[in-house]
Amino acid sequence: MISLPGYARRGGRWVADVPSRFVRELTSSERDELARLCRERSKALGFRAAIVNLSARGVPIPEIMRQLGVSRPTVTAWLARFDKFGLRGLQDEPRPGRRPKLTPDVGRQIALVARSRPRDLGVQIARWSLLRLREYLVGTGAVSALSLESLRSALRRGGLSLKAIRTGIARKGTTMIPAAFEYHVPTSIGEATALLAKHGEDAKVLSGGQSLIPLMKLRLASPRHLIDINRIPDLAYIREAEGVLRIGALTRESDLEESDLVRTRYPILLETSKVIADPLVRNLATVCGNLAHGDPANDHPATMLALGAEAVAFGQKGERRIQAGSFFTGPFTTALNSGEILTEIRIPIPPPRSGGAYVKLERKVGDFATAAVAAQVTLKEKGVCERAGIGLTNVGPTPIKAKKAEAFLQGKRLDEGIIKQAAQLAAEESQPTSDLRGPAEYKRDLVRVLTARALTKAVERAGGGR
Ligand SMILES: Cc1cc2nc3c(=O)[nH]c(=O)nc-3n(C[C@H](O)[C@H](O)[C@H](O)COP(=O)(O)OP(=O)(O)OC[C@H]3O[C@@H](n4cnc5c(N)ncnc54)[C@H](O)[C@@H]3O)c2cc1C
Repeated sequence: MISLPGYARRGGRWVADVPSRFVRELTSSERDELARLCRERSKALGFRAAIVNLSARGVPIPEIMRQLGVSRPTVTAWLARFDKFGLRGLQDEPRPGRRPKLTPDVGRQIALVARSRPRDLGVQIARWSLLRLREYLVGTGAVSALSLESLRSALRRGGLSLKAIRTGIARKGTTMIPAAFEYHVPTSIGEATALLAKHGEDAKVLSGGQSLIPLMKLRLASPRHLIDINRIPDLAYIREAEGVLRIGALTRESDLEESDLVRTRYPILLETSKVIADPLVRNLATVCGNLAHGDPANDHPATMLALGAEAVAFGQKGERRIQAGSFFTGPFTTALNSGEILTEIRIPIPPPRSGGAYVKLERKVGDFATAAVAAQVTLKEKGVCERAGIGLTNVGPTPIKAKKAEAFLQGKRLDEGIIKQAAQLAAEESQPTSDLRGPAEYKRDLVRVLTARALTKAVERAGGGR
């Protein structure tokens, strides 16, 4: 039996033990106002009003928790506030006599928002007013409640006043979260590489921007020159020619997902793309950007290692090719020179009786991998392995090519026992560290399990299975 302090279940309904304003019928104006708040106001206000609305209609608290996906303390806190202060209790004003906590972190967030142009944050006004600034901060959950006085004092502590913010924006014309940079939009590879050569280490290529822009916003990257290659024509393609599958520099993850060629002939690539982030990110993020970023947590590197892919780098001195096995040189570091653009990925077209699979464990959909494994095999007659490629994601400072496991498989019949031994070797080759996604030992064992699954699926596909 669920028990809830201050409330009891009577006649199939949760009611307050103590008679209060909350449990009596709502007046029609309260009902109208709650309905309006649910419809029109910010996310936070609408959700508080929904709690009260549901409760006033006799919906039990566990059901409100289920419907709105909130915890019991959240429901009871807002009911109690409504009980005590009426509709005013749902507004953003702090409870009388209680000051909101303005920790240094919250202060920094407020200053960051206040220095930004409202339109850059999706607020359709030219300049901040205190009211709109507060509404934005509360609506995004940066603060739970804030009086105008507290907001003014937070701004003062951050060395800001509303007037200074507004005139600052007016005078400079812009306020940015990243450090200032010069934006270049070349329309040919030659122009882009000339810009890269001119600005050297101060320049960065911008493709999908899904890794670079977040880093710039956090000021973990502050390139002085951004070379946006998105206007260079003919860089988005997926085609087979001269024995290789070619993927151009501006091919997005979503292009892979939508390609018939990839779906029918390269299920391993489709599987890799589909588990990257979410559709919004995949609409912009490029396969080449995913590799050039050199993040050991990114998904494509392991797949390219398994497939034996080759990267084509283009710079002022011309073109050079780099094997996937020597492309990832350190954490967030690749074999690309600062003046080079990764223009194409080339994957050898797998011979008959080949199959591959990518298997990833993530904490929630769209997350980076706790661990993931790519496996690609080619079989000879009677299921004997001619070639095996195995790549590991997010279990080391770089994506890892499990060379010992690959060598072990060659020339053997890929039955359950052999796959089990290869999976053990791959686990031993991984170099995970303990972090929020789990302890190192757990991740190593995960590599063993995922390698066995990926290899089993790859062998099935090599034999004609889907
Ligand atoms: C919310 C979120 C979740 C994500 N989850 C995942 C995930 O689960 N798995 C995963 O693999 N990725 C994930 N990503 C990363 C995403 O796939 C990135 O977009 C990708 O890693 C980088 O591709 P991009 O085209 O956006 O590159 P950009 O961000 O434009 O660039 C990234 C880096 O690569 C360099 N670069 C880009 N293109 C080239 C090129 N052609 N030549 C030379 N250098 C180049 C840039 O200079 C920069 O240093 C996630 C991103 C977000 C925002």
